[in-house]
Amino acid sequence: MTADGPRRRVRLAGVGSNIFTEMSALAVRHRAVNLAQGFPDTPGPDSVTEAAVKALYAGQHQYPPVPGLPALRAAVADHQRDRYGIALDPDCEVVITTGASEALAAALLAFAGPDDEILVLEPYYDSYAAGAELAGARLVPVPLTGPEFRLDAAALRAAVTDRTRVLLLNNPHNPTGTVLDERELAELARVAVAHDLVVISDEVYEHLVYEGLHRPIAALPEMFERTVTVGSAGKTFSFTGWKVGWATGPADLVAGVLAVKQYLSFASGTPFQHAVAEALRLPDSHYTDLCGSLKARRDLLVDGLRSLGLRPRAPEGTYFVLADVRPLGAVDGLEFCRELPRRYGVAAVPGQVFYADPEAGRHLVRFVFCKREDVLREALRRLAPLANDLPRRPWSALL
Ligand SMILES: *Cc1c(COP(=O)(O)O)cnc(C)c1O
Repeated sequence: MTADGPRRRVRLAGVGSNIFTEMSALAVRHRAVNLAQGFPDTPGPDSVTEAAVKALYAGQHQYPPVPGLPALRAAVADHQRDRYGIALDPDCEVVITTGASEALAAALLAFAGPDDEILVLEPYYDSYAAGAELAGARLVPVPLTGPEFRLDAAALRAAVTDRTRVLLLNNPHNPTGTVLDERELAELARVAVAHDLVVISDEVYEHLVYEGLHRPIAALPEMFERTVTVGSAGKTFSFTGWKVGWATGPADLVAGVLAVKQYLSFASGTPFQHAVAEALRLPDSHYTDLCGSLKARRDLLVDGLRSLGLRPRAPEGTYFVLADVRPLGAVDGLEFCRELPRRYGVAAVPGQVFYADPEAGRHLVRFVFCKREDVLREALRRLAPLANDLPRRPWSALL
């Protein structure tokens, strides 16, 4: 057998190692403050960690049921009912996955096939493009437009063709921080119903909302029966390394996700499932405390970036601030981010990686604010010279 030549196929070869890896590596090399990757630098609640430890010592080491532990499925169902009024049968309308990532991959593989089109809000999370490519399907971007990144309803309607099968949403939205309002959700629902689309709604930031309220699209009329809603303990409880997520929806769609999931990971980590079942029973104060603390850090970062001369958008939700770097005289966010760790000791992610056409997001840079307040202050202190360096000299002159 030959090892190379035209017979060899390498899936996702064009995707390469992702930008978060590249920027985090630069951060390490230059001892930069890492505002590139979206994970908190403080752990979730001790009681939840203790529940994981207890499960380990109680001998919870073997495979759980493929769809997830019954106690966790029940807790997810109760969460959806208590928060959003969505009634779910935990036996057939909830599946536990290895993070939201696996739920998304399994859903895309289940509901999109060769030559199908998937509508996606743009900018979009990088794993969506990989999931679509693995399915052989095509992403069709629907831009969030203007400085406030709102849904363009006309563009949404114009993007539908007779090949459209899936509407892939992320709300609250990474990287813009947009939380879709009632009018936007209704517009999306109208298109989904009119064209009989399956909706995959990535709601991993459902609890990280600072203005307005999160509303799952599955709660709108005629939407439950066509929607798979994806959640995760990672962002909600600040345990991003545990990789416990879930997909919920009508039994036929959840069965579709489960059919693929069982041949991706088979089942997901038993002890962490026990702990997340307890986490979902935490009192409301967990959510309000986390939100209050993140909102203060959002304001710190947004105000700080603005005073340096960037044009940040204050997000209504998520961990992220997108900032326009053009007021500083910079033109290319990728160039900006490749230089930032070495010159200023801070790492961020270029916005263009979230666009099908990099030109559309060339002026944007994404910073995270899910870090301790002292870490954010240190990043801003390091960035302070930016305000003086850049307006006088074009960014490229500094390279
Ligand atoms: C972090 C993130 C995920 C992945 O969640 P995991 O539970 O860690 O797999 C999915 N979607 C978006 C938009 C995210 O930001």
